[in-house]
Amino acid sequence: MANYYVLLGPPGAGKGTQAKLISEKIGVAHISTGDLLRENVKNRTVLGLEAQGYMNSGRLVPDDLIISMVRERIALPDCSKGALMDGFPRTVAQAEAFDKMLQDAFNAKIACVPCIEVPAVLLIERLSGRTMCPNGHVFHQVFNPPAAEGVCDECGAALYQRDDDKVETVTKRIEVYENQTAPLIAYYDQAGILARVDGTQQIDSVTAQIFSALGIDGA
Ligand code: AMP
Repeated sequence: MANYYVLLGPPGAGKGTQAKLISEKIGVAHISTGDLLRENVKNRTVLGLEAQGYMNSGRLVPDDLIISMVRERIALPDCSKGALMDGFPRTVAQAEAFDKMLQDAFNAKIACVPCIEVPAVLLIERLSGRTMCPNGHVFHQVFNPPAAEGVCDECGAALYQRDDDKVETVTKRIEVYENQTAPLIAYYDQAGILARVDGTQQIDSVTAQIFSALGIDGA
């Protein structure tokens, strides 16, 4: 049976890292709206050009743009086997649209929403020290440094800092999360599908907590 999951949590909570590990393990599509948008920005599509200003200033891209982007993505064949959403939904309007999308496309409901919780002070430290390569491998100057400074361990490409990981933008992104995305915690809690996860732990311990929330044997 196809299962659909939403990974919730503030920027820097580790959603991307966890989503990658978990989607590979359980064989569902990993859908990161941040990655889809960055791809559009890189390719200078109409959507990318429109989204760029919002992203660089740490604000949310308007709901209608995001919702139609996800509707197109979810229609691709790999999503019929299930999907793990990373960075979407981020507003109540997006959450309502997503519920309807799943219903219409697959006659399905979200199975579980793990919410990775990390205090704001740690988020700032994590995000402002983060670097990545163009192929999406992520490092941290202190917590996960590459073997050679500025070079990706996995593919040898040069590492860079995301424009929106600069310290001023990070603070804005956390504020936006608190105001616009945190209400989703109550939204999914009321639906009885929220599972709180302690995101201050090591990566593998967070993964284990998420597997347990999903009712999957992660061993
Ligand atoms: P992320 O990689 O998930 O941190 O997303 C990077 C940026 O892309 C965010 O700060 C937003 O500007 C934009 N973005 C990603 N996902 C969404 C979404 N679901 N709704 C609105 N904006 C988004």
